[in-house]
Amino acid sequence: MSRPRAAGAADSRCPSCAAPVLAQWVGDRAALRITADLTPLTPEQQAAVRTPNRLIWCLVQTRHGTPRLRWLSRWHPPDCPHRHVTEHRCTAAPTTLF
Ligand SMILES: [Zn+2]
Ligand SMILES: [Zn+2]
Repeated sequence: MSRPRAAGAADSRCPSCAAPVLAQWVGDRAALRITADLTPLTPEQQAAVRTPNRLIWCLVQTRHGTPRLRWLSRWHPPDCPHRHVTEHRCTAAPTTLF
């Protein structure tokens, strides 16, 4: 890949707006590439963004300290101790990738 960042970088940032994000393949067969904001959402914000076209993810830390996005199902515990984040919607510039 043509990633200029050296291996071992702790975080990733959106190339457009430099917001801290986490890009990860999720799903049963790593079918979906998600770029999630690392800013945790308040319960009010979660209710606001929980629309058919915007997903919320549960950000858990593995034993090795690696952040991992988990699908937030309908029966997700409301008192979940992990951070809940949503997909990064870049506001810096219109995307010209596609
Ligand atoms: Zn959770
Ligand atoms: Zn961005």
